[in-house]
Amino acid sequence: MDGVRLSQLAKCSRMAAYGALGTLTDELPYDPEESWFRGKVYEAVAALRAGSEWGTEYDGQPNIERQRVVPWPLGEGHADVFVRSERLLIECKSSVSDSDIPLVDGMRQLQLYVHFDPEAVAGELWFFDPRKGAFKPLRIRAEAMDVATAERLVDNVRQAMDGGDLPPRVCSHPKMGPEHLCPFVETCFDGWVEPVARIERDAESEVEALAMEWLDLKLRETEKLTNAKGYHERRKEVEERLRALVPAGKSEVEGYTLNRIQVGESYSLPLKKAMSMGLWTDAHNEQFGQLISRRKGHERFQIAPTGDDETVAEVDDAGDVPF
Ligand code: SF4
Repeated sequence: MDGVRLSQLAKCSRMAAYGALGTLTDELPYDPEESWFRGKVYEAVAALRAGSEWGTEYDGQPNIERQRVVPWPLGEGHADVFVRSERLLIECKSSVSDSDIPLVDGMRQLQLYVHFDPEAVAGELWFFDPRKGAFKPLRIRAEAMDVATAERLVDNVRQAMDGGDLPPRVCSHPKMGPEHLCPFVETCFDGWVEPVARIERDAESEVEALAMEWLDLKLRETEKLTNAKGYHERRKEVEERLRALVPAGKSEVEGYTLNRIQVGESYSLPLKKAMSMGLWTDAHNEQFGQLISRRKGHERFQIAPTGDDETVAEVDDAGDVPF
């Protein structure tokens, strides 16, 4: 690897700056050699698949180039595969995490490669999830990163190398660093203390009482006591009142730590409905199958005393089956 690592720049320019400055790395929670071998296996799989899809020769030369060198202002990157006939870069990632961070980081890395490679016109991220078909990747098309963003990322690192400030963190908490496979979390968060807000004095006793009630309601809901729905509704009312008294993030009152967490927007697709309506086709399965979890159809028992509408026992022993 020559110069600053483009793969690190894609994840976080501060990480790339630490690498450029020769910062000592943390003790990693995984074996980097094993990761390296896994990466090589998937690169080889991708090269074979690309060769069978687009041919192994083009214009009298090999069509598939592995470890394609991509020069950029602060070093050299190495893209996993380049298909000459398509002018297409392929970058492989593999993960068994349900987090979207490995995908997002991989896409940005590929966009940077396409931006800096003078011959490439597009890229494909080949994402392998060994749980869902060891050697068949999810393929996502990528264009070049826009010029302004790519230049800003490079300038961030250049400025730190010239003795300026480090680029800002992309992580708001040290727990997020490992998701980016960052080897500099300890240095980056050295001396960092999680901010804990104090509740306004005149609201303290009300917040304490609400916190106590919230915990009690939560317990009752978890134990599925009768009136669980009522407990849940009351807990939502308690939360509504807490929103007016407690700031976002972590805060404390006597005996309780409260964490007001912002949950991002989420999406779901009623796939069964889309299938019944004929909107979900084999082509969608081919493209998105790797992202779908399926539960196999099965039988189950429901048993109740005759004349009693209430269910007293249910047996359902079907486990999740990977797609
Ligand atoms: S811990 Fe997060 S913010 Fe800090 S260098 Fe690593 S990825 Fe960047």
